[in-house]
Amino acid sequence: MIITWKDVIHFSVSGNPVPDKRVEKTENEWAALLTPEQFRITRKKGTEAPHSGALCSAHDAGKYECICCSTPLFDSTIKFESGTGWPSFTQPITQNAIKYFKDSSFGMVRVEVLCNTCDAHLGHVFPDGPEPSGLRYCINSESMNITKSE
Ligand SMILES: [Zn+2]
Repeated sequence: MIITWKDVIHFSVSGNPVPDKRVEKTENEWAALLTPEQFRITRKKGTEAPHSGALCSAHDAGKYECICCSTPLFDSTIKFESGTGWPSFTQPITQNAIKYFKDSSFGMVRVEVLCNTCDAHLGHVFPDGPEPSGLRYCINSESMNITKSE
């Protein structure tokens, strides 16, 4: 099943899909596990500079996992070149991998995407991606790790 912008809005307004499991840690525990930049982005809703991320131009086959809890988030087969300077995907790896929140910061209304397992901030999703989903998940490199396929 393909997730569309209508689904994204529905999740952000009416509640997110239930994750397979939950991972919860204190801020100090996360800080001990992550680099300062990973912590700033995933636990403090930061954004890396465009074109700075190691995964931006990565083309290896594999699964992109949450840097905090290792839950698979995106598959390399749905990664695409958006030209924005951040890794971009058209769909999550499973429907319940990602959670969505309406984000009204900086005077804009956007939809924030987070890891549904540990609430790591990943980036935002926009309704200007390629068909058939029409979605563009714009994700910080620092919030993910790729596990390459054999
Ligand atoms: Zn996570």
